[in-house]
Amino acid sequence: MAQEFAEVVVIGGGAMGASTAYHLTALGVADVVLLERDALAGGSTGRSAGGIRAQFADELNIRIALRSMAEFETFDQRFGVDIAFDPCGYLFLLDNERDVARFRAALELQAAHNVPSSELTPSQAAEIVPQIETGDLLAATYCPLDGRATPEAVVAAYAEAARARGARIFQGEAVERIHVRNGRVEAVETPSRRIATETVVCTAGVWTRGLAALVRLDVPVRGESRWIFFTPEAGGLPDRVPLTIDFTTSFYFHREGPGLAFGGREQTAEELAGPATRRLPVLADLPIQTSWWGYYEMSPDHNAIVGESADPGRFLYATGFSGHGFQQSPAVGEHLAELVAGREPTLDLSPFSLERFTSGAVREEQFVI
Ligand SMILES: Cc1cc2nc3c(=O)[nH]c(=O)nc-3n(C[C@H](O)[C@H](O)[C@H](O)COP(=O)(O)OP(=O)(O)OC[C@H]3O[C@@H](n4cnc5c(N)ncnc54)[C@H](O)[C@@H]3O)c2cc1C
Repeated sequence: MAQEFAEVVVIGGGAMGASTAYHLTALGVADVVLLERDALAGGSTGRSAGGIRAQFADELNIRIALRSMAEFETFDQRFGVDIAFDPCGYLFLLDNERDVARFRAALELQAAHNVPSSELTPSQAAEIVPQIETGDLLAATYCPLDGRATPEAVVAAYAEAARARGARIFQGEAVERIHVRNGRVEAVETPSRRIATETVVCTAGVWTRGLAALVRLDVPVRGESRWIFFTPEAGGLPDRVPLTIDFTTSFYFHREGPGLAFGGREQTAEELAGPATRRLPVLADLPIQTSWWGYYEMSPDHNAIVGESADPGRFLYATGFSGHGFQQSPAVGEHLAELVAGREPTLDLSPFSLERFTSGAVREEQFVI
């Protein structure tokens, strides 16, 4: 077995791990090894819809969104890679008073952060997407900053930029053991390598729970499978529509090439057909060309779990994104890199640390799709 050393070992090569590796090297920490069990973006990231939004109800998620959007918006120039960032907007459709009240409160919070989101009437929503059924809607909200990008392209760009600055990235390397000595991380082992290190950053998505258990840390994240379905045609929808979400049912759709992509909480197209065709009747006439599923890594309060463990020391983690991990990867990767490098964090994400589940400071993000 090869014996190696790295200043930092990042476990998991999804959006979060790739962003962390890049941001570490950008801060001058070049001796980084990233270990990916499968292939880069082979986990949830490669299954994601690529949605990016500032329309959240938790202030910290709004801050993370704005920081991340600033990176997505300039990604092409900075990394020389087309990530197909499209600020097509997010359109939330609301059919009950309780949700309207919650979204109005969130709009105020978003406005306090200069997010240009606004409330629309159902007929204004129908001007944007004429094919939606609006008879039962009370209101909608829209934000033109929101949009989409291609997750695999983001991962590839971060990984390439990290490599160019000295990071070593190994695919097909599953971490099986994490050694701890005197309360601190000492080494990471795969079947073919033992890498001595003083710092481990675990960004293994839904699999973080198992890896954290190797160092006796309980990270309360669980996988929830989500499907996306693709149609070959768009049923007359405009070429550019927002990522549109029927908030009560979680049914959502967006344009994807010549067709549409859509999904929700249901596990089969048959189960999703009811809520989907009620809101977007043209879907009933469109064939499904392909589909896939992946895991949402759910936390108990639907907010990220991000931080550094006290015991063992120098074990950092980021998971539990509950459906918004791709879009949070720029700011959270930057944050993890800052923690590792001992820099003052750009964002104070300490309320998202694991300790909140024992201290009673749990904070619920209400806008989960
Ligand atoms: C259908 C669907 C739609 C989604 N839509 C959106 C969206 O619109 N916007 C959004 O922001 N998010 C969305 N998400 C959520 C998003 O995909 C995730 O939150 C995000 O990709 C998490 O990134 P990650 O890097 O933390 O985890 P992952 O991408 O899962 O990466 C973790 C990596 O760790 C690797 N790994 C696991 N165990 C080991 C080990 N022992 N050793 C080494 N490597 C290991 C895995 O192979 C994997 O590649 C969606 C998810 C799904 C399933």
